[in-house]
Amino acid sequence: MTQAGEGAEGPVSRREPGGHADGLSAGWDYAPAPESRDIVSIAPEYGLFVAGEFAPAAGGRTFSTVNPATEETLSRVAAAGPADVDRAVAAARAAYDQVWGPMPGAERAKYLYRIARALQERAREFAVLESLDNGKPIRESRDVDVPLAAAHFFYYAGWADKLEHAGFGPAPRPLGVAGQVIPWNFPLMMAAWKLAPALAAGNTCVLKPAETTPLTALLLAEVCHQAGLPPGVVNVLTGAGDTGAALVAHPGIDKVAFTGSTEVGKEIARSVAGTGKKLTLELGGKAANIVFDDAPVEQAVEGIVNGIFFNQGHVCCAGSRLLVQESVAGAVVDRLRRRLASLRLGDPLDKNTDIGAVNSPEQLDKITRLSAAGEAEGARRWSPPCRLPDRGYWFAPTIFTGVSQSHRIAREEIFGPVLSVLTFRTPEEAVAKANNTPYGLSAGAWTEKGSRILWLAQRLRAGVIWANTYNRFDPASPFGGYQESGFGREGGRHGLAAYLDA
Ligand code: NDP
Repeated sequence: MTQAGEGAEGPVSRREPGGHADGLSAGWDYAPAPESRDIVSIAPEYGLFVAGEFAPAAGGRTFSTVNPATEETLSRVAAAGPADVDRAVAAARAAYDQVWGPMPGAERAKYLYRIARALQERAREFAVLESLDNGKPIRESRDVDVPLAAAHFFYYAGWADKLEHAGFGPAPRPLGVAGQVIPWNFPLMMAAWKLAPALAAGNTCVLKPAETTPLTALLLAEVCHQAGLPPGVVNVLTGAGDTGAALVAHPGIDKVAFTGSTEVGKEIARSVAGTGKKLTLELGGKAANIVFDDAPVEQAVEGIVNGIFFNQGHVCCAGSRLLVQESVAGAVVDRLRRRLASLRLGDPLDKNTDIGAVNSPEQLDKITRLSAAGEAEGARRWSPPCRLPDRGYWFAPTIFTGVSQSHRIAREEIFGPVLSVLTFRTPEEAVAKANNTPYGLSAGAWTEKGSRILWLAQRLRAGVIWANTYNRFDPASPFGGYQESGFGREGGRHGLAAYLDA
């Protein structure tokens, strides 16, 4: 075990492995509560899902996918090349022209309902597989990712036969074939966010999951098959960035939907420019979570923890900048430290685990580098004493205080369990600091005054603003950003616009 913590401001107190950092709860411990992985059967190899069948890549290339908590290889997966992209786009085009495009919305809805129900029936299987491939705690994959994925299919199934009442004209038309590229932080949920509205609107899809997390997208392909979805309506091409690049550049695609880093988003925007393809981009963020002096501290601390330590901070809308009113900053940071000392880091399949593994060595390296930059620039670093497993990719929950707006940790997306704390004196200063970012995806506000929430909401330049809560998602609610966080909305009625010729 590696010991983390004891930053520049020293530890809260020392704790035994698996125990608690604060003296109050010493002597109490959780028994291990591991979820069984027997429910999942992982094949040694997976092919690409094209035209309703699994088949190896034309070039025979494969890559391995690894459990980030143990570094164990879970499976080998086909790496799609340009010939596979051609085949998948042709299958999607044929399905669009011959079956899915002409099909009445009420019929399409039946397939979406079936997929949603199958996701619910196989929820445990999906949750365990997601935690194995991604490293996220089972509590999150079981209670958030999988239920929200199913909810998206249910929600958009309801729209499939009502598109003419969605506010996009009397007879909105689908776009055709959608090329969709998704990241590794919410692999199943992002697949659902992309596929469900596209299919409801009458498009067919070629989906490219992230290289490090392909397994739940492949299980979802199996569910599409189980639901009797006509061949070619959904195709899944596994592979790395070059597969994604080939897909978005393919001339047979009518629509590109991308979620991921701002850099790749810009590259895609350049590649799509002038082609007539419709584009939506959901990119990075550096959200401000703003705590006023009248906020209930305990509740706000839970919201801060949920905002940045949920999913190891691998969240585009994470509340990675805490803006706290100066008069309560000391009290809030003290409570936050006590709370962090009670978080449990470890086996993602243990139902008591709060913080799982970082998804990849590359991401761990990025988090480590940016945290080192925070220290080098003069911010004070603190983590609770916390034992990190010897194998796998881990990063202790970390808080930086004494952060100024020019620090890299206040400006760049770290995408890890690292919180930068800044202070403000007046609401105007809070707004100015919150908006001082090239991003604009989300924000949070903690105050008892409803009028202040409305005042803030009018001034914060962010696509989603949570009040007295954080990281809440609902399929009926649109999600998306401004500036370098991208454009277009996913979720709700707005999410249909991205897939309709409206
Ligand atoms: P990327 O943006 O590279 O990956 C997102 C998806 O795009 C993956 O499926 C990736 O494939 C694919 N991809 C990569 N290059 C291209 C390309 N040129 N054309 C088309 N598709 C491409 O994110 P990373 O995984 O590399 O993470 C890097 C950083 O991005 C993180 O540290 C984090 O800060 C940020 N990020 C932000 C996310 C967000 O939702 N805001 C999500 C993920 C990352 P492959 O996985 O095979 O490389």
